[in-house]
Amino acid sequence: MSRAKAWTLDALAAGVRGGDRRALARAISLVEDRDPLAYDVVRELYPSTGSAYVVGLTGPPGVGKSSLIGAIVRHVRERGQTVGVISVDPSSPFTQGALLGDRIRLSDHFLDPGVFIRSMGTRGHLGGLAEATLQAALLLDAAGKDLVLLETVGAGQSEVEVIGIADTVLLVLMPGSGDSVQALKAGIMEIPDVIAINKMDHPAAKTMLNEVRSILSLDREREWRPPIVLTEAVRGENVPELWEKVEEHRAFLESGGQLEERRRRNLAGEVFAAATSRAKAHLQAEVAETPELRALLERVQSRELDPLSAVRAILEQVYGIDSPNSADADGR
Ligand code: GDP
Repeated sequence: MSRAKAWTLDALAAGVRGGDRRALARAISLVEDRDPLAYDVVRELYPSTGSAYVVGLTGPPGVGKSSLIGAIVRHVRERGQTVGVISVDPSSPFTQGALLGDRIRLSDHFLDPGVFIRSMGTRGHLGGLAEATLQAALLLDAAGKDLVLLETVGAGQSEVEVIGIADTVLLVLMPGSGDSVQALKAGIMEIPDVIAINKMDHPAAKTMLNEVRSILSLDREREWRPPIVLTEAVRGENVPELWEKVEEHRAFLESGGQLEERRRRNLAGEVFAAATSRAKAHLQAEVAETPELRALLERVQSRELDPLSAVRAILEQVYGIDSPNSADADGR
């Protein structure tokens, strides 16, 4: 890694476009480092993205996501598809593949040029991770991968952003994932497109299946009813069946023109999420660094100034926007 060759924009873009592993690895590292060259490369390659199918895989820790990815990669490779995997762990400060050897059994795929696997951890804040994931996924797409798998631990809002670009969202549960089931039931967690209940060798798997099934049956409006598949990820049992459901979802989206619509929505969402996250970081930095703005907060704290007058003053100063405190101007 220390023999870092200085890549030019052209060489890097051409390398990624040609599917060159080293170029791809380098470009993703630059993305993680927020190197200006990374933004240039993605800008250059973006018009040639959109051919990869993106599957987001999420679920609580320990349910078998990495094992399932190993099995899925094997399955799609047997069918001749190329695949890129980005494994995102928002709780981990590690980056650049530190985790990947541990979490995804690479041995099977190590020498296979049709597979590219990369882990990413938080370097800095979560917003940065979502941005980096988006860029990395675009690079894999531009590199000609047929399939991009984005994997992340289900940890609330963060994973929504990370897998926000997915065409199909696959939720992985196992017997004992009660919290996730509650979150689905309460409508806190969005209904995924496909559900895998992994560790089907566990005696409580069937109970879990029935529980999830009954929650989903409450929602009759949905045009696409999310299928639930029992799997055993270590031996790869039922993985072809699971993948068939992902492909059925894809066919469903494609047949009604919904894929296009979903991608448009996803991309707009990603732009909004990244802009919001940057705007928030900017606001925090400005307030921290500007005595005048901090004084406004202090005046609120000492009850000299009401909170929303402070909000107006801060927004005016930081962003130059006028946000009147009235009902017809709140933008909704
Ligand atoms: P992740 O944290 O969701 O990525 O989960 P891992 O793939 O790392 O799996 C967590 C543990 O569960 C590992 O010890 C796996 O070997 C084990 N495991 C994964 N899938 C299965 C399964 O289908 N059955 C059983 N019995 N164990 C599994």
